[in-house]
Amino acid sequence: MVANINPAQVPQTRKLAVSDTEVAIEIINMNKWYGDFHVLRDINLKVMNGERIVVCGPSGSGKSTMIRCINRLEEHQTGRIMVDGKELTNDLKKIDEVRREVGMVFQHFNLFPHLTILENCTLAPIWVRKMPRKDAEEIAMQYLARVRIPEQAHKYPGQLSGGQQQRVAIARALCMNPRIMLFDEPTSALDPEMIKEVLETMVDLAESGMTMICVTHEMGFARQVANRVIFMDQGQIIEQNTPVEFFENPQHERTKLFLSQIL
Ligand code: ADP
Ligand code: MG
Repeated sequence: MVANINPAQVPQTRKLAVSDTEVAIEIINMNKWYGDFHVLRDINLKVMNGERIVVCGPSGSGKSTMIRCINRLEEHQTGRIMVDGKELTNDLKKIDEVRREVGMVFQHFNLFPHLTILENCTLAPIWVRKMPRKDAEEIAMQYLARVRIPEQAHKYPGQLSGGQQQRVAIARALCMNPRIMLFDEPTSALDPEMIKEVLETMVDLAESGMTMICVTHEMGFARQVANRVIFMDQGQIIEQNTPVEFFENPQHERTKLFLSQIL
């Protein structure tokens, strides 16, 4: 329960650099409908370079849809979305530019089962970025080492645990050298003992200064690395605050109810 959180037990958010002036993502009065269903309502969100944002909220509140709009996996209908100064419109060239800068990790790792771990990591650099295979492999091995599974490079996804596959998915996204990483419930399909290893990888990435938006209900992670927690309900951003304030002093009834259910 929220009321029982002992502040002394809440790890302080680490002081990681956040830019005062460089905007990574700006969403202005954005609305989206699926047919008649108004799924996102007047979303306004500004993310500075180096920010680490955790998005939480009940199932069906629009969290996935919102972050999928940021790399145009979903299209918004009104309002504006700017990523690193580039506005998302129907301009395919711009969409491509934005996608180059934004890496995404999904709940279900979406690795290609018929390709080795190394091939999963080098596919896009070789075919999209036109990188020489040798260079792509060298970079992939560096990232696989960083997520601590270089020894798995020549295995197939089916031979790895869920936690290892998710770390491959993170390494694969990093191989494209993104400036921003989006995570959509990266640990919610994992067995409890594997959650920690994936969260550790994400903490490591946060500490490297990566701009991150993470949809997750891992509130320990939020406390440890987020500089802002955003709560969504019924397609709206209801409340946002620093983790300490968010957990200790939630403002809205809906936030209180949500926290009482997950903490
Ligand atoms: P969350 O990630 O917070 O659980 P989603 O963004 O996945 O929420 O979904 C928000 C709402 O939009 C839900 O009611 C969901 O059923 C609906 N929805 C999601 N994707 C589609 C789609 N492709 N077509 C129609 N409705 C959708
Ligand atoms: Mg979702």
